[in-house]
Amino acid sequence: MCLTIPARVVSVSGKLADVLENGEERAIDISLLPRLKAGDWILHTVGLAIKKVSPKDAREIIELLESSRKVNNSSLSDKFKRILQASKVRELSREEISYLLQTDNPEEVNALHSEANTIRKAYLKEFICVHGIIEFSNICAKDCYYCGIRSESNVKRYRMSVSEVVSTAAKAAERGYKLLVLQSGEDSLFNDEELEEIVREIKRRSRVFIFLSIGERGYESYKRLRKAGASGVLLRFETSNSQLFKELHPEGKDLDNRFSHLSFLKELGYFIATGFMVGLPGQTIEDMANDILTLKNLNPGMASIGPFIPSPETPLSDKASGSTDMTLRVMAIIRLMMKNVRIPVTTAMETIGGAGMRKEGLMAGGNAMMFNLTPPRYRRLYQIYPDKFYQRDRRWERYALFQGKESYRMLEERLRP
Ligand code: SAM
Repeated sequence: MCLTIPARVVSVSGKLADVLENGEERAIDISLLPRLKAGDWILHTVGLAIKKVSPKDAREIIELLESSRKVNNSSLSDKFKRILQASKVRELSREEISYLLQTDNPEEVNALHSEANTIRKAYLKEFICVHGIIEFSNICAKDCYYCGIRSESNVKRYRMSVSEVVSTAAKAAERGYKLLVLQSGEDSLFNDEELEEIVREIKRRSRVFIFLSIGERGYESYKRLRKAGASGVLLRFETSNSQLFKELHPEGKDLDNRFSHLSFLKELGYFIATGFMVGLPGQTIEDMANDILTLKNLNPGMASIGPFIPSPETPLSDKASGSTDMTLRVMAIIRLMMKNVRIPVTTAMETIGGAGMRKEGLMAGGNAMMFNLTPPRYRRLYQIYPDKFYQRDRRWERYALFQGKESYRMLEERLRP
């Protein structure tokens, strides 16, 4: 579920060990691993050694997380340097954000990523989480112009049964996943009782956090689901430009309905994940700068940002994709402005840029990944855009999905808003 950078044990004294991590020495409680000795490698969190790893594994983990970027300071403009300095002490203005989104100096883009990576390391340590997503229904009442499973789309529809969702979640939990996103179209045939049953039954069987990504379902439903045990909600505002929002959501309510959802969801005690798409047709640089400022204002626990990808059978099928370059810039600027926020590398990024985007995203301020756990027979039907990326990564699963109550506790501490 989550991975921390390995530390090497320098010396052991009773239940404590001095360890060396990233060149710094610190004391760690090793009561869970009583046979540790100097020279061993461990993963640790909240001051506790959780897992011993071999030197070979330690090297592989360090490689997963190590940046090879060098910044050439002499090629940075004074303006860029001033903006970076300003980001340390105050909120960036729309104009400054726009500059970072547009600069065509590759060294400045490199320096922006590098600064975001440094901030991630300083604030979140090497704490990279792997979460799972289960897409349990592609039935949708909405007609969002960008989405491949919109109501007008002629795709084969499916809905997993309550027991299928629960057993898929239980299997994921057995493999070590601790945070699962349950996602669907706006499927009102899944009534509140069924959704409650899913949440309750998963919580009864497995020690996992459940995040819901089920759209604008209204206060009462979300209240019931929170009571049943759901911890978080992923609901993007998609764009902060209300005119563009209206144009893209012919049947939806307006943008205010998204914001009012985000506001009452917070009141209900949900951990909030929200964000927007990058490169939507009609979206300007100024819109994106506003999206970033809106996000900052909403102050969510997680920022979910992905490029727009044109989908067949939608009114936007002939439009251009958003770019990974712009999405990485947006992620990095968000990291500059929201030092502690969780930022997953989204599937849309991997779909355009491949598995390599995972590391690129982490090196630009991201700190989480979302692996798809939808049963294979349903995956190809949940095509919100074509050729959706499904590859999980053995190394990440092997190192990050470690078991045990400490692993759950570690995430619990980090998920506190
Ligand atoms: N129905 C829920 C909702 O609307 O929040 C969850 C499912 S919806 C398919 C999840 C997200 O997929 C949306 O918030 C949207 O940002 C993203 N999405 C949909 N179509 C997309 C596309 N063509 N390109 C990139 N992202 C897309």
